[in-house]
Amino acid sequence: MIIQAQSLVKTYSLGESQIIVLDGIDFEVKKGVMVAISGPSGSGKSTLMHILGCLDRPDSGTYILADEDVSRLSTDRLAEIRNRNIGFVFQNFNLLPRLNALENVELPLLYGGVPETKNRAKEVLRIVGLEDRMHHEPAQLSGGERQRVAIARAIVTDPTIVLADEPTGNLDTVTGQSILDLLKDLSTKDGKTVIIVTHDPEAAAIADRIIQLRDGSVASVGRHGAEESNRDPSGAGSASEGDFHA
Ligand code: ADP
Ligand code: MG
Repeated sequence: MIIQAQSLVKTYSLGESQIIVLDGIDFEVKKGVMVAISGPSGSGKSTLMHILGCLDRPDSGTYILADEDVSRLSTDRLAEIRNRNIGFVFQNFNLLPRLNALENVELPLLYGGVPETKNRAKEVLRIVGLEDRMHHEPAQLSGGERQRVAIARAIVTDPTIVLADEPTGNLDTVTGQSILDLLKDLSTKDGKTVIIVTHDPEAAAIADRIIQLRDGSVASVGRHGAEESNRDPSGAGSASEGDFHA
């Protein structure tokens, strides 16, 4: 298992009151699969992604990433683990506007002290189909092209896990589908573990597994849009939290 989440709890305090955002999340993810996390707005999807991506820590519970318990690591250690293992893709692309596509993609390599960055950055831009757009700045690219640059940037350091938080949220359906196909290829062709937060039924259809969050809990786990029922001969759809192996 590349990811093991056990009883993850996260709360925020708002004035006097406490909001329980994640209320005991359990699941496991195998290396090389694509998992979709879906659920209503405010159900804790982004909070969970931040923990999975080592941007934040749970208040309680255990997060084991590639066999290492990272739940209580210092911020610095967490950053090291993140840089080595995780690539992020966001809804709003998060590209630097003054840098062209090639320079945006080179950045993680420069931060990582990699001596030669150009060829590797070009290589991943080729993988995402943007060879001929390398010298364009984000403003000169379409939404779909910007998201391809962001995906290239996410994979340039060859992370084990790619996390995408609503990556098609700002794209039209057709463009969104091509981004989903690209993310799917990362799992099937490159063996990366891809976890994507989405409202998009197409994404749920393309993923190997779907985790439905509701009010900070895992409401259901399914495969290809269907409720998982293979451990329940009655087919009553009993799969639920604590019982998830993708
Ligand atoms: P989703 O991504 O599913 O829409 P989020 O994980 O962003 O949900 O947020 C879940 C809940 O946690 C929301 O009610 C949100 O207002 C709250 N929340 C998220 N981040 C913070 C924060 N930094 N401080 C206080 N409340 C937060
Ligand atoms: Mg969110």
